[in-house]
Amino acid sequence: RNIYGDRLNSVGPDLSVQKVRDSFTTALDKVDAAKFVAAPLIGGQENTSGAFDVVTAPANRLIKVGVVHEASKADIAGAFDLAKSAQPHWNKLGGAKRADVLNKMGDALEADLNRLCALIVREAGKTWADAIAEVREAVDFCRYYARLAIEQFGQPKMLTGPVGERNSHELHGRGVFVCISPWNFPLAIFTGQIAAALAAGNAVLAKPAEQTPLIAAEAVKLFHKAGLNAALLALLPGRGETVGAELTAHPHIAGVAFTGGTETAWMINKTLAAKRGPIVPFIAETGGLNGLFVDTTALKEQVIDDVILSAFGSSGQRCSALRLLFLPHEVADAYIEGLKGAMDMLLIGDPANPVNDTGPVIDQDAREILEAHLAVCEAKGQVLHRTPMPAGLNGDYFAPTLVELSSADELEREVFGPVLHVVRYDSQNYQPTTDAMAGRGYGLTLGVHSRIEAFAEDIADAVPAGNVYINRSIIGAVVGVQPFGGEGLSGTGPKAGGPFSLIRFASERAVSNNI
Ligand code: NAP
Repeated sequence: RNIYGDRLNSVGPDLSVQKVRDSFTTALDKVDAAKFVAAPLIGGQENTSGAFDVVTAPANRLIKVGVVHEASKADIAGAFDLAKSAQPHWNKLGGAKRADVLNKMGDALEADLNRLCALIVREAGKTWADAIAEVREAVDFCRYYARLAIEQFGQPKMLTGPVGERNSHELHGRGVFVCISPWNFPLAIFTGQIAAALAAGNAVLAKPAEQTPLIAAEAVKLFHKAGLNAALLALLPGRGETVGAELTAHPHIAGVAFTGGTETAWMINKTLAAKRGPIVPFIAETGGLNGLFVDTTALKEQVIDDVILSAFGSSGQRCSALRLLFLPHEVADAYIEGLKGAMDMLLIGDPANPVNDTGPVIDQDAREILEAHLAVCEAKGQVLHRTPMPAGLNGDYFAPTLVELSSADELEREVFGPVLHVVRYDSQNYQPTTDAMAGRGYGLTLGVHSRIEAFAEDIADAVPAGNVYINRSIIGAVVGVQPFGGEGLSGTGPKAGGPFSLIRFASERAVSNNI
């Protein structure tokens, strides 16, 4: 706890300790022996009658992690009715009582860290280090939103007004929220969306990504175990085009919290706009074309470390990951040589082995999209380097790749994987380069490496971004420390893990009483 009595961010275990690594091996064995199921979970009742699919590990498709049953239209209708009936009581409970449940959920996640990490390693192909960071972030979301629930959903705020009139202002939940999450943070974002909606006094229908339903099912069960009335949170696994579309088309939902691709956000926006009924908030956190500008004063070793982590960490599968590296002509060749050397030192392989820096990409589709992008770059002679891959890998792996483009405009869209695009720029006239970036319309993360503050300020003024990182990596936002989210094509806000996170999950009411 800090001096104000707040809990600090979750710390997590130290992977450099042999005993910690041993405990993970044990957890992995247990996860491999278990049979995980993700089925519609409504009022705490699992419905395994629907069509099912086997969930396999991205690192090795021969490993079966569990099975997923898709939610039906009847499941969705039933879950909505139950959630709708339970929400008013939850809303009336007030922020402090809701915070109790969220804090218990944070504790439950922390207590179950080893098992959850092992499942994330298997189902999402994340490294141990990434899996630990993921559980810690989920814990942080629960505790941070608990704190906001207490601060913002406690007593009504009294306002000054005419004598004889009592005026107040308060926030309350909107109803039943739909939460739709991506596979790349299958626990943290899934839990964070739900925790925010619940903290504000809503009930939730949650649809996880189709690649990662098992960890989501475990999170929902933990919420229920932590004391949440099961009617308030339903798990509805299935495909976006079926379950996701049905949920967002439901005439009586109170809002949608979505994290995923920009194209999907457009589709959901259209579905919401086509409905005749209440106009509901759409919170969309989407993709990015993230750039990092280096100038001639930057510290080369630090830049290379930060670039490698930002572009290739988590196999480049972070929305915040570095896609475009801008190097001044004077030093570009030296940086490119340095990057090639650092790329050769990356260890790619089974994420269950803690020595490996990165694992596979999420699935065959993701690998094929990256391979198609590579083929185009190869045809144009733009590929500068690829990390040599070990033999015998059995999953969906893609080697970290360095590509040179002549301008940011050449990168048509977000390439979601370990591909870094280098663009050279003129340090005496960098406005055309920043204009090209600004013109793309994204605005998620932005990096600058420079010892000249005015340069960093100039770049940050010229290129839109919700999160600006100076002289460090551009990934790994921490709840409450770097509130995260973009603008423009990258998202609507409010930022996750920031002081205004809950506002769009809530309705406001002003009461004037002529006493
Ligand atoms: P995605 O394909 O857009 O899917 C996200 C979620 O939307 C999934 O649950 C998906 O279901 C669902 N969905 C798909 N079509 C839908 C529809 N018509 N109606 C309702 N829901 C639908 O994104 P992804 O591939 O999972 O994740 C990667 C993307 O997320 C990247 O663009 C990344 O930049 C972005 N991202 C952004 C942030 C951020 O905070 N800004 C954070 C993480 C990731 P299925 O799984 O069945 O397709």
